[in-house]
Amino acid sequence: MLNKSYRSELIGLFGMPVDENPTVIIMEAAFKELGLNYRYNTTMVKPKDLETAVKALKAFNMKGTNITIPHKVEVLKYLDYVAEDAALMGAVNTVYLKNGKTYGENTDGKGFITSLREENIELKGKKVVVLGAGGAARAATVELAMAGAQQIVVVNTNKDRGETLVKLLNDKTKVKARFVLWDKTFEVPNDTNIVVNATSIGLCPDTNKPNINYDTLTKDMIVCDVIPNPPQTPFLEEAEKRECRTFDGFSMLVNQGAISFKLWTGEEAPIDVMRKALAKEFGRVL
Ligand code: NDP
Repeated sequence: MLNKSYRSELIGLFGMPVDENPTVIIMEAAFKELGLNYRYNTTMVKPKDLETAVKALKAFNMKGTNITIPHKVEVLKYLDYVAEDAALMGAVNTVYLKNGKTYGENTDGKGFITSLREENIELKGKKVVVLGAGGAARAATVELAMAGAQQIVVVNTNKDRGETLVKLLNDKTKVKARFVLWDKTFEVPNDTNIVVNATSIGLCPDTNKPNINYDTLTKDMIVCDVIPNPPQTPFLEEAEKRECRTFDGFSMLVNQGAISFKLWTGEEAPIDVMRKALAKEFGRVL
């Protein structure tokens, strides 16, 4: 009689497009490191098939899935439970199954916060400027507010999106948020502690940088980019020239993956292995 199982535990990634998403690299490296018989399957799911795909998580007895563009908002209505911060953001990037029920979480903002906390950055009482009001900005601002940031300035070219995010932050969290329409070069207020690029400007192969007056960055400011690839964006290069402390989107990506990994497997993620695997994939020297 066989004393082994040929059955794999399954994790998905539902999105469209998904071909360029590198999460499989960090997850498979982590499964291998811990000797877990798990498979991470990057799967193209069309919007019209999302409900069926979420039902399939139960049918296939899967451990969970990542959710990416364009499903992060839409997926909420198909889940049994949604975590408080993810419900506030209105976006889920990780689904896990427990006792046959689906639970939605958002680990993007937590990955961002973890990257700062790892370097002992205190967030309580801080004044933050966030460029952008899309999914990454929503995730980062809600977690910053929950971590005790005092003030958040949301700068965005789309007025409705920016104002909606500011209203959410003011109505549902304790942070004081205000909106600035990004219709000209943005001047960073000099009492700002943290500046975050949460737009998609600078994502490979884009070599542009956000339209801000870089001379308003001062060396006591912490400057962060959510862009994971390239690791050193033109935005961060400008900040480094002004001697700011900088954080890139690479650590955020690894950290959000590590949090999701634990939700699915119950194991602490081998974060160094995940970091090295992604660095190798991106050709980055650690
Ligand atoms: P969205 O499409 O939801 O939002 C994009 C945002 O960027 C919007 O606010 C948009 O403004 C703004 N934007 C885009 N181009 C310009 C421009 N030329 N000038 C001014 N504003 C611009 O995308 P996401 O928030 O989901 O993703 C944003 C980035 O975050 C992506 O590059 C993604 O790779 C990265 N990301 C990184 C993660 C990580 O772990 N490191 C996790 C999640 C995302 P408007 O509203 O006016 O259109």
